[in-house]
Amino acid sequence: MAIDPQFHENRENVDEHEGHTVWGPVDEPEQLGIHGTHVAVDFDLCIADGACLEDCPVDVFEWVETPGHPESEEKADPVNEAQCIDCMLCVDVCPVDAIDVDAGRTA
Ligand code: SF4
Repeated sequence: MAIDPQFHENRENVDEHEGHTVWGPVDEPEQLGIHGTHVAVDFDLCIADGACLEDCPVDVFEWVETPGHPESEEKADPVNEAQCIDCMLCVDVCPVDAIDVDAGRTA
């Protein structure tokens, strides 16, 4: 399974976190939703591989701890999504297709 690129139409904006939107459903700690809109990470798919943090040229991602989540106990959070230059590296390197980038998408 990969992140739904139409999540902004199929999900509801349920929260804000570190300056970005959270798209539900959220039922902590097992279900965390999608974080971000321009740079979107499906926290329920993320396995904390870390390739996106290593490869992003403008440091969009930071780790956030998510104890109790079944896939991983930390997630790549797009805290600096406004800095994204749309290089698509993170999309290409994510082993579980948890990331989608679309500069035209709005919350
Ligand atoms: S598309 Fe490029 S600049 Fe944007 S978050 Fe991904 S790796 Fe960073």
